[in-house]
Amino acid sequence: MPRHRTTARGILFLLVIAGLTAGGAAASTSTGTGAAAVPRLIFPVVGPARYTDDFGQARGQSGHQGNDILAPKRAVAVAVEAGTVKYHTTSSRAGCMLYLYGASGTTYLYIHLNNDLTSGNDNTGKCVAGVAFAKHLKNGAKVAAGEPVGFVGDSGDANGGSPHLHFEVHPRGGGAVSPFTHLRNARKLLLAVRPGNVFTAALRGKIVATYADSLTLDVERAQSWPGGLRVADVRRKIELTMPPETRVFNPLGALVTAAKLAALKRGQAAVAWTQAAMATLPAALGSPRTLRTDKVVLATTTTATGAEPASGSGYRPR
Ligand SMILES: [Zn+2]
Repeated sequence: MPRHRTTARGILFLLVIAGLTAGGAAASTSTGTGAAAVPRLIFPVVGPARYTDDFGQARGQSGHQGNDILAPKRAVAVAVEAGTVKYHTTSSRAGCMLYLYGASGTTYLYIHLNNDLTSGNDNTGKCVAGVAFAKHLKNGAKVAAGEPVGFVGDSGDANGGSPHLHFEVHPRGGGAVSPFTHLRNARKLLLAVRPGNVFTAALRGKIVATYADSLTLDVERAQSWPGGLRVADVRRKIELTMPPETRVFNPLGALVTAAKLAALKRGQAAVAWTQAAMATLPAALGSPRTLRTDKVVLATTTTATGAEPASGSGYRPR
């Protein structure tokens, strides 16, 4: 009965069209408008960073289109949300620059990335992976939220000024909005690790609390491998899972065999080494009990506290 079949097909066709329309409408609603399109971000710089709401301030001919995030030279810049990156290397003002096209539809600009090969302001580095951009990163690559994408620097018209990331937020790829509240609400990473890679980390600080299966450390410095990327001035309490097989070493390097837990006193300076694990966003964030201890090396107070020189004094953005 061809008539029937045709009718059934017709109805099916209409249902499909209706479904597509409904789906389309739902998709555009969830995208939202303006600032609503910006999801909660991962803070774009790992480690100590300072910024003010300098959006709209007079700079040159036009207002400042972002916020300047002051950070140590070569501090790791990370993807604030998942998306796709694009290098931009031909602007004399922006210097080494990166676009991140976020999955939410918001576009982010990372400007003045590193262009130096030494610790000085040599300007001899090109806007390439390993200098301006993360070593593994390729132009056009898809990145995960929190994935390292570049290094803070002073390229472009920031040359010779305090290293900083000029960061812009463009909801739905349109005009820039102030990044300030998004930065204030952002989640800060503890470690600069590449999601999906196996990593280990060393967290240096003071013991805050110990339980049979966990160790909370007031972390001052962190370092992770591969890469050996250091994060200074962390100042965060991190709760690690401490499996029973965790080895504890005294400040002389000898293995503590008896009364292991008793050796882990509150206020004791220590370095916690983590077990090799897959880098995930919770691990990079240092979420409670995500990192697991492999060994804990107790330190004399002088060596472990050895406060880093206060970073952040004398920063002057350009
Ligand atoms: Zn700026």
